Amino acid sequence: MSALPIAPRQLFYDGQVQSASSGKTFQTVNPSNATVLAEIHVASHADVDAAIAAADRAFHSWSQTPPIIRARILQKAAALLRERNDEIARVEALDSGKAYTETSTVDVVTGADVLEYYANLVGGGGLNGETTQLRQDAWVFTKKAPLGVCAGIGAWNYPIQIALWKSAPCLAAGNTMVYKPSEFTPLHAQTLAEVYREAGLPAGVFNIVYGAGDVGAYLTSHPTIAKVSFTGQVSTGMKVAGSAAGNMKYVTMELGGKSPLIVLPDAELENAIDGAMMANFYSTGQVCTNGTRVFVPTSMKSAFEKRLLEKMQYIRPGHLFDESTNFGPLSSAGHLEKVTAYIRHGIETDKATLLYGGLGKPQVPKELEDGFWVRPTIFTDCTDSMKIVQEEIFGPVMSILSYETVEEAVKRANTTELGLAAGIFTKDLNGAHRIIDQLQAGITWVNTWGESPAEMAVGGWKKSGVGVENGRRGIEAWVKNKSTLVEMSGEVATVFAKL
Ligand code: NDP
Repeated sequence: MSALPIAPRQLFYDGQVQSASSGKTFQTVNPSNATVLAEIHVASHADVDAAIAAADRAFHSWSQTPPIIRARILQKAAALLRERNDEIARVEALDSGKAYTETSTVDVVTGADVLEYYANLVGGGGLNGETTQLRQDAWVFTKKAPLGVCAGIGAWNYPIQIALWKSAPCLAAGNTMVYKPSEFTPLHAQTLAEVYREAGLPAGVFNIVYGAGDVGAYLTSHPTIAKVSFTGQVSTGMKVAGSAAGNMKYVTMELGGKSPLIVLPDAELENAIDGAMMANFYSTGQVCTNGTRVFVPTSMKSAFEKRLLEKMQYIRPGHLFDESTNFGPLSSAGHLEKVTAYIRHGIETDKATLLYGGLGKPQVPKELEDGFWVRPTIFTDCTDSMKIVQEEIFGPVMSILSYETVEEAVKRANTTELGLAAGIFTKDLNGAHRIIDQLQAGITWVNTWGESPAEMAVGGWKKSGVGVENGRRGIEAWVKNKSTLVEMSGEVATVFAKL
């Protein structure tokens, strides 16, 4: 019996929990107080082989199952997730350090929404191809075929949501999956596998392995894997995509960003500030699409900063299950070190003006003092060349940059190798369309920030990624096309006829 608060996690394949053969384990930790939550078993290469073999065995039958039947199973899984929302959200809060007010209203909900969306899409004919009448007696028809066994690799910031955003379209399209969650937030994965099983998903269709990057690397480079769907840092994504491309595997890459949020001179100040706060401090800044470069007109800067400072008091760190808590710790000790190093660099080397926050911990109850807490931080008078402005910090650190003209703001907003998200605040909707059109990002918002519903395809431009997740376009990443030309004239056009 484990003395830890949560039962250990082994592996899950062939429809059941399986023991790992590596003999190695790692621990997952509650980031709010640095206590150990559970012991997780690491998959050996042989274990990964076994999980992939289970997925391979299940593929033929699952891919041949009519979409409407697959849809019914996935709809049932979505309903089970909603029924168990609070219980799953509790574990997500403990594992990720996000406040329960957040995990109970966003993480499971937005995952279940995507599952339901793809179930409905394929159940309603979303996998149908096209028919083209080429001439009177010849037709071309296309068919969408599943890819095979797919690998899913998740980041730690939205654990169950990422697992669902990958597995939902993957399974709906008739593929099978081996999923590796991040070693920092692994607890959701077995629960999801059990929910799928209870909903009627056949054994081997969804499988779980645990471990760090080496397990991910072995899984994604395995010859049986037809597609890799990866969420994580640009540097890791480049390695994984490089290896996958070399073996002609399909890839979807959901990577990092350093997204610009432009407050236009006519913006409603209060809305722009609410948007900028959501774009920097929600989830303690650990959101890939965060708008961390906040461009403000010079004429508005002082009013913007004054009101922003007044509103910073509404950020409330505290116990994860306290109803008033809306700001958790960072996800791990290593990540705290990284974010702290950026804040130190901003103060000491970039020499940006520290408007709020800075080094040290926010005030939290005594029993949380060992947790991975960081202060929400705002730098102003930033310039484009500062490291804190150029690199993804993935923590609650806002950089305010002032500008004179909108053309200048747009140009500077685009001067980055990343292109995940961008957004503007303005009252001029005609102008908004023109500016949005010029911003080099795959996900854009006008007068809001961060909402990412199932219906909206999301994915990065430039080094922020390849392909999209969600929406109608999202299913295309999980199928391959077959085109068939049918000739009905009764004759074959040939050049090899008698002269
Ligand atoms: P990492 O790139 O460090 O890790 C992502 C996943 O890849 C983890 O499961 C990790 O394992 C695994 N991994 C590490 N090395 C390899 C490898 N060589 N081959 C295969 N898998 C490997 O990212 P983080 O977990 O730190 O996540 C934060 C990043 O994710 C941020 O940059 C953020 O912007 C991005 N992100 C992007 C999203 C998007 O939709 N665009 C959404 C959410 C986050 P382990 O961690 O267990 O070692």
